[in-house]
Amino acid sequence: MPDAFSESRPHAVVIGSGFGGLAAAIRLGARGYRVTVVEKLDAPGGRAYVYRQDGFTFDAGPTIITAPYLLEELWTLCGRRMADDVELRRIDPFYDIRFDDGTVFRATADYDAMRAEVARIEPDDVPGFERFIRESERIYEVAFHQLADQPFHRVATLLRSAPDMLRLGGHRTVYTKVSRYFRNEKLRIAFSFHPLLIGGNPFTTTAYYCLVGHLERLHGVHYAMGGTGAIVAGLVRLIEDQGGTLRLNAEVEQITVENGRASGLRLVGGERIAADIVVSNADVGWTYTKLLSEHKRRRWTDRKLKRARYSMSLVVWYFGTNKRFEDVYQHTMVLGPRYEGLLRDIFKRKVLTPDFSLYLHRPTANDPSLAPPGCDAFYVLAPVPNLASGTDWSTEAEPYRQRIQQRLEETVMPGLGGCIVTSRLLTPQDFRDRLLSVNGAAFSLEPQLFQSAWFRPHNVSEEVEGLFLVGAGTHPGAGVPGVVSSARILDQVVPDPAMLRATAR
Ligand SMILES: Cc1cc2nc3c(=O)[nH]c(=O)nc-3n(C[C@H](O)[C@H](O)[C@H](O)COP(=O)(O)OP(=O)(O)OC[C@H]3O[C@@H](n4cnc5c(N)ncnc54)[C@H](O)[C@@H]3O)c2cc1C
Repeated sequence: MPDAFSESRPHAVVIGSGFGGLAAAIRLGARGYRVTVVEKLDAPGGRAYVYRQDGFTFDAGPTIITAPYLLEELWTLCGRRMADDVELRRIDPFYDIRFDDGTVFRATADYDAMRAEVARIEPDDVPGFERFIRESERIYEVAFHQLADQPFHRVATLLRSAPDMLRLGGHRTVYTKVSRYFRNEKLRIAFSFHPLLIGGNPFTTTAYYCLVGHLERLHGVHYAMGGTGAIVAGLVRLIEDQGGTLRLNAEVEQITVENGRASGLRLVGGERIAADIVVSNADVGWTYTKLLSEHKRRRWTDRKLKRARYSMSLVVWYFGTNKRFEDVYQHTMVLGPRYEGLLRDIFKRKVLTPDFSLYLHRPTANDPSLAPPGCDAFYVLAPVPNLASGTDWSTEAEPYRQRIQQRLEETVMPGLGGCIVTSRLLTPQDFRDRLLSVNGAAFSLEPQLFQSAWFRPHNVSEEVEGLFLVGAGTHPGAGVPGVVSSARILDQVVPDPAMLRATAR
């Protein structure tokens, strides 16, 4: 490699090693920057951190990998193949949705099988299903293909895309849109719940997110053997092979600014790191209110960020059992009796309710390597209000976990209580204290129309030159495909390192 390890390359520092930060580091390394990733935690991945305990491996966060070509691109940039580092397996059927009355809807990529599932629940909704599938394809083409990797830092981009947004009903909500095609409430739920996977309320999230169903069908739902942590480890290897550095246990306290330009970082403890450009993968609210607290901001002021709408949070219970629950599918939604009312309580009223809807993950259904022989590893997550609710999780956590356990015992895991051998709980307070997420939000800013695209904090910072944002809180938004796309946008907006070197001379 000619000057791959040369210190004369312009220096890019990336704050945070979530999927967005790691993807940004690889892209910047491929462009010719010398890259340092600075991470607060003791291991990379952010929400995709890995917990290992008592012989079990638990992916902390993302488990459903969609649009894997976005990850493959990162390997291609390094002249490699993802398959050499990570074995991705297609999971089809995608998931089971179990309604409160015990009915199960099985989602799959197979059009005829999906049609049959719809007919089994409500024959009159089959024509609506066929039209909805075509509509979600159209939305995908515009919203994902044409807009997700557009830098929305110029209002002109917004104005150019506005007619398409209106034509496709981007001003409507996911639930309203879905309800035009389905009359049966179960089917309305099955085709509208997807925004919850990225922190949005289907009753307020723009109908653009109807694209997720099509994204799943087109590119498949995948699982990384060994867990999502295997992808994170592969990305870190790419960075190191490019000559980049990952510094763990290093918390950034301030982005330093000189003459209106980001000049580097100050770590907690006082160490300074000089940089030609800074990319923040930290929570956007935290980036602006804490990491740029010494800099006067025009758009993303403390006041504006305080009034912003943050996504819901999650309680995630990781547990291992000394027996296998062969009837539990790899991905199962265990829904409660309420949908709209529950979401209103979580997102709007911000109250903790006795009922909940759960997502249960059983990776050992396909990958026994994550648990000792004859055992199963699980996580179950429950959407809950973010910390604006005032809930004190230091007292609420254990009773809440017990209620989740009871619900699982009553529905899909009879006898669970007698076979738990390891357990760990994550609450909204952990999202705040471990991941430095404002309000303990699990998915940063809520994906509402007026917090999307141009209205979302831009990938090119509006406040400081030479500062760029990637990750869930910037455009296009949360979820692995979203944050990896945010890093893709950097290619269009960061300065050419050769130019930076020339101006420095
Ligand atoms: C439980 C759960 C399940 C999910 N499931 C899925 C799924 O199945 N599929 C999917 O596509 N998405 C899923 N998501 C969403 C997805 O995981 C996230 O949107 C995505 O991983 C966030 O990536 P990010 O780039 O924003 O960085 P993050 O993962 O948020 O990482 C940011 C990093 O920055 C570090 N950091 C923050 N502040 C500082 C600082 N001051 N100094 C140094 N470092 C700092 C943090 O420690 C962290 O490591 C899930 C999320 C959760 C929480």
